[in-house]
Amino acid sequence: MSFIIRADAKSWIDVPADHHFPIQNLPFGVGCPTTHPECVCIRIGDQVLHLWTLLDAGLIPEEEFPMLCSFQDMDRGHMSDIRKIAYDLLRADNPLLRDNEALRDQAVTSIDNAEIQIPVLIGAYVDFYSGINHASNVGKMFRPDMPPLLPNYKELPVGYNGRASSVMVSGEPVRRPKGQTKDASAERPSFGPTKELDFELEMGFFTGRGNVLGEPVSIDDFTDYLLGFVLVNDWSARDMQRWEYQPLGPFLAKSFGTSISPWVVTLDALEPFRVAGPKQDPQPLEYLRAKENWHFNIELEVSIHTEKMSKPQVVAHTNAQELYWSFAQQFAHQGVNGTNIEPGDLYASGTISGTEPGSFGSLLELTWRGRDALVMEETGEKRTFLEDGDTVIMTGWCQGEGYRVGFGTVEGKVLAAV
Ligand code: CA
Repeated sequence: MSFIIRADAKSWIDVPADHHFPIQNLPFGVGCPTTHPECVCIRIGDQVLHLWTLLDAGLIPEEEFPMLCSFQDMDRGHMSDIRKIAYDLLRADNPLLRDNEALRDQAVTSIDNAEIQIPVLIGAYVDFYSGINHASNVGKMFRPDMPPLLPNYKELPVGYNGRASSVMVSGEPVRRPKGQTKDASAERPSFGPTKELDFELEMGFFTGRGNVLGEPVSIDDFTDYLLGFVLVNDWSARDMQRWEYQPLGPFLAKSFGTSISPWVVTLDALEPFRVAGPKQDPQPLEYLRAKENWHFNIELEVSIHTEKMSKPQVVAHTNAQELYWSFAQQFAHQGVNGTNIEPGDLYASGTISGTEPGSFGSLLELTWRGRDALVMEETGEKRTFLEDGDTVIMTGWCQGEGYRVGFGTVEGKVLAAV
């Protein structure tokens, strides 16, 4: 049922081989001009295809796709159909849009002129903890006298309900939060700006439909509920987290901001990059067993750009295959108690780390809780945690034969506390 665009497909819009948004990708976002601010668009190369112009021109039947003026009503089936229409209009040998200069100038505009917004109105945000290497590293640091993984870790995808209202789109700055922290030697906590501001490299997915409260979802239905995928930077204040997280989990250490990449990459585009996940031992309970592979071969990278540097420096490289629990398992676990999943829910994977130091998805791990500072090669600056003015840039892509299906970037600059 998926619409997979061939590796050798070409568009009349020229896209380099290492670009994240060739015709094989065609992700969805919201970035139309002020006249149609909520309308859905598709990214190709450095251009944006405005779907409302195609509706106006009759190239997309409005009666079949009324949701194009609000992402909120879109489901995976609509996306798949629209993506197929967009592919058809953009392929190199179709003159319909290519040779209609007046329409083309309106329908296809430079990304530089787009006002990229958060793609979906996010009603709920759940953050999982499915990166086993990250969970293990944090366990070693925060609970050194115990086994790194708690007994439930390999039985269920651990998660918590995060704060949807503070999810931001890439480019928006994050304000350094204030809160309680407590030094191990101190008798009582103190209040002030976090001294341990960190990033977390994660993948996220949106749901595009809901279930009735009280009626559990099945892992086999994940494809129907899934809208698409984004990159997530789950900003974290480690000193606040360490003091507040027991017994109910993180609270203010996480709720001040979460950044996502703006382009929703479809399952159809990711189909060629599906892979089996790690062998799970013990075998999960039946409701967590999927028939299909729900891991993806996505290269992931984090860079830091301080104010003194002329260009960013890569500080971590890993792969989404490092997740222990798959996206489908996260979905199935979230919905198994009958809670109502809704369109526009965001589910983040948890920090994705590899097994080697250069592959860790947070500064907490990369500097081993501040013990081993990272050195910025260009300026000699050292970083244990983030400083004001630092920009964190995350990117991710799947490498196909002669093309990439990428996510672009999720970027955010740290502002001083107020
Ligand atoms: Ca997280």
